[in-house]
Amino acid sequence: MERERMEYDVVIVGAGPSGLAAAIRLKQLALAAGTEVSVCIIEKGSEVGAHILSGAVFIPRALDELLPDWRSRGAPLVTPAEEDRFLLLTRQRALRLPTPPQMRNHGNYIISLGNLCRWLARQAEELGVEIYPGFAGAEVLYDGAGRVRGVATGARGIGKDGKPTPQFEPGVELIAKETLFAEGCRGSLTKILEQRFDLRAESGPQSYGIGLKELWEVDAAQHRPGLVIHTVGWPLDPATYGGSFLYHLENRQVAVGFVVGLDYANPFLSPFEEFQRFKTHPAIQPTFVGGKRIAYGARALNEGGYQAIPRLSFPGGLVIGCAAGFLNVAKLKGSHTAMKSGMVAAETVHCRLQGEEAVDYRAALAASWVWPELHETRNIRPGFRHGLWFGLAHAALDTYVLRGRAPWTLRQSADHLHLRKASDARPIAYPKPDGVVTFDRLSSVFVSNTNHDENQPPHLRLREPARAISVNYALYDSPEQRYCPAGVYEIVTDGAGDKPRLQINAVNCVHCKSCDIKDPTQNIDWIVPEGGGGPNYPNM
Ligand SMILES: Cc1cc2nc3c(=O)[nH]c(=O)nc-3n(C[C@H](O)[C@H](O)[C@H](O)COP(=O)(O)OP(=O)(O)OC[C@H]3O[C@@H](n4cnc5c(N)ncnc54)[C@H](O)[C@@H]3O)c2cc1C
Ligand code: SF4
Repeated sequence: MERERMEYDVVIVGAGPSGLAAAIRLKQLALAAGTEVSVCIIEKGSEVGAHILSGAVFIPRALDELLPDWRSRGAPLVTPAEEDRFLLLTRQRALRLPTPPQMRNHGNYIISLGNLCRWLARQAEELGVEIYPGFAGAEVLYDGAGRVRGVATGARGIGKDGKPTPQFEPGVELIAKETLFAEGCRGSLTKILEQRFDLRAESGPQSYGIGLKELWEVDAAQHRPGLVIHTVGWPLDPATYGGSFLYHLENRQVAVGFVVGLDYANPFLSPFEEFQRFKTHPAIQPTFVGGKRIAYGARALNEGGYQAIPRLSFPGGLVIGCAAGFLNVAKLKGSHTAMKSGMVAAETVHCRLQGEEAVDYRAALAASWVWPELHETRNIRPGFRHGLWFGLAHAALDTYVLRGRAPWTLRQSADHLHLRKASDARPIAYPKPDGVVTFDRLSSVFVSNTNHDENQPPHLRLREPARAISVNYALYDSPEQRYCPAGVYEIVTDGAGDKPRLQINAVNCVHCKSCDIKDPTQNIDWIVPEGGGGPNYPNM
């Protein structure tokens, strides 16, 4: 069956803050110039927002520039950040540290980024942007000269065996003059483009963290709307980078999350169990007693910062938002930079569509506020490669004395290179969940509302299936069993406990992308499943 073909001026892959901001800016520019621009966004989630997971304390700077009248348009920014607390946890105690300037949130809002995206999508549609949720970009299309000429969405109704089922529908070819890749952290098509156009030739490797999050409805007595808490220290060992966030939103809701740098070394570490353990700390647990957990999810985030920004353009398109990696890790914030990069990309594309080929997206971004913001904090995260104590001392020196103007730039290396062999590592015994404040993985996946059609080819592909046992199991005790926040990877044996094999429960996948990043030999490729599959986050 032939694929249907649709033509646009601009196709955008991903309806996160970067993709939506780009679409809105393109339409605004065309309106102001009295020209027409056709813009289409595809989104792999079942609806806009379904796959969005963030903290989120939101800096409204880019939104102020994009839609200055957002208040009167009813944007879902209703809880101003009122108070910041930065805590160092030991097993029993919580020591209050001075809040670093990057983590002061006066003027920011505590939001659900998913809900902001839903609202942005409505603004985009009012301007004439076509948005197609439930359609995953599965293939990059090139013309004869190797220029990107759009993307194709995945086919539906292909069975596990790779053969068409009676529900088969071919994908659609979306042809564009310019294609913007807004897939967020570790985008699957962006990964292909990075290789094809060697986009990382002049930048450092990207590094990542895994962020796990729960949304709670807490007891009224525990609720302090506007309170923002960040912690470092326990339960992580000082060699492992990470920490938590607790944001009190409106309607008795508290977003609680835990981030672990994916450069961790101990293969026995489980980011999920560390998160659960964190909630049992005497300074944290009372928030949740008498409350109810209403949602769970996980997502990787970029931690490479300024040093890891790749080449951003190639013939026929641009990379925007966290797909490129504009998150400011010192602030744990990337939505504002994602939106701004989308807006700058839209301005570049608008000029190109008018025939001004010479405009340079990277140069325009470097002239915007995104660049100095990332440059100033560039050394903070790499300082933690030497452990928590050095990292904190170095961050204080960099922030208060050098003010981001250190004459050096620290480097990072790829996360998957950091894993130690199981024989050289200390096993970690995690406590059992109590079902009240702490939970197991499967009941957590249940509240992420994750769903995939079971009869489809696996979207988690092993380049060499045998390596799952000969390398991962034999040398690292199969760390994917622990870093996957959804219990997708399981080692199963025969009745006698022999013949281990890796079972992949792909239906549970919450699309965090950690396996694509952390696998020690880069043997796992995450590709898009059938559009609409994956989590259905309500307001994460
Ligand atoms: C735990 C955690 C806490 C965070 N806290 C904060 C915070 O407090 N403040 C803040 O500002 N930022 C925070 N961030 C970062 C912020 O969420 C990101 O910077 C922001 O979401 C990036 O926007 P984006 O548009 O680039 O990508 P995303 O928000 O990831 O959106 C990408 C969209 O593209 C879709 N997509 C991906 N691939 C395809 C494909 N092939 N086809 C179709 N659709 C596709 C995805 O489903 C998704 O909807 C946090 C992130 C995490 C993980
Ligand atoms: S399978 Fe991979 S992408 Fe899916 S939830 Fe597990 S680690 Fe994340």
